[in-house]
Amino acid sequence: MRIYFDHNATTPVDSAAVEAVTRVLTGSFGNASSVHHFGQQAKAVIDDARTAVATLIGAEPSEIVFTSGGTEADNFALRGVAEAMEPTGRKHLIASTIEHEAILTTLKALARRGWKVTLLPVDATGVVSPDALRSAIDDSTALVSIMHANNEIGTVQPIAALARIARERGAVFHTDAVQSAGKIPIDVRTLGVDLLSISAHKFYGPKGIGALWIRRGTRVASILTGGKHERNRRAGTENVPAIAGFGAAAQVALKKLPSESRRLAALRDRLETSILENIRGTAVNGTRDPRVPNTTNISFENIEAESLLIALDLEGIAVSTGSACSSGTLEPSHVLRAMGLPTHRTQNSIRISLGAGNTDAEVDEFLRKMPAVVEKLRTVTGMRR
Ligand code: PLP
Repeated sequence: MRIYFDHNATTPVDSAAVEAVTRVLTGSFGNASSVHHFGQQAKAVIDDARTAVATLIGAEPSEIVFTSGGTEADNFALRGVAEAMEPTGRKHLIASTIEHEAILTTLKALARRGWKVTLLPVDATGVVSPDALRSAIDDSTALVSIMHANNEIGTVQPIAALARIARERGAVFHTDAVQSAGKIPIDVRTLGVDLLSISAHKFYGPKGIGALWIRRGTRVASILTGGKHERNRRAGTENVPAIAGFGAAAQVALKKLPSESRRLAALRDRLETSILENIRGTAVNGTRDPRVPNTTNISFENIEAESLLIALDLEGIAVSTGSACSSGTLEPSHVLRAMGLPTHRTQNSIRISLGAGNTDAEVDEFLRKMPAVVEKLRTVTGMRR
């Protein structure tokens, strides 16, 4: 049996989303901008999906702009606000050190164009403190972008408190909710944010489709220009099949969220506790609460994370060494480094992220295999103590 414990990298597509995509691919090929029947049929598909996605995050459908995924939504938020705010003289952007590369790399690009960028530190548990934001923000701050849940350790940030501080200083607040949407309840009004990114493939929808939620009245310039699609905010003929799949996945996620989050938290907690109790030299990275229910990040003393990942893959178990983008390299995790963990712990940690298909039997199988895999690696590398 192959076991997939890497749902923060991506998820298998839900059957309802597959059906929705297939239905559109085979039956609704029209261009949603066309006025005739075929176009209107495609437009109706998009409207329904927009409502479903908006409902998942407590938003108005008209505030949803479909994008090609989380990366584009993050780019849209950062570059779009930077451009729109430039004439106001505000030239300062704030994010955290543990953001996804979609944010960090975009900020580097903006810094090269003269924007001042401040990255807020996190504490040893991976959390950004409101006080850190309070001391970094000033009247020149255009945008604050802090992720809702971290992709590597799953910790959930105090977004409502952070957004309140930004609002008081007249800055726009964006949150990357790619790893929280569909896993924990999200209500954009309660969070008090202005912009929020989500991506379908992290909650059983297709890849290459996501959205930026834009609170009505927020100043954001378009970064993709052309036709008047998406209320003139994102040009390009809509990817109607993917949008339909996104909508279906959002509906399923909303319906299953209460029971599935309880089930996954119980599975994850059992897995985590058992590892800590039965394998010496292990520790959980990041705060255990608040955290998305499916994620744990565990460090294994005297082990190289890449070797553990490969050994587990040979046993039929898929985990990750952190973000999918940095796996395959021996780069220590920037998230664990930002938490102040010593170098060896930034290189001996794996992320286990559970999801819909995972069962008690799979967790049992994992727990049965794990001690021997770890012992063997510690022996082979001569680092057994
Ligand atoms: N933001 C976070 C926190 C992520 O985990 C990811 C994907 O790993 C992204 C953004 C990028 O999303 P996408 O893969 O849809 O471009």
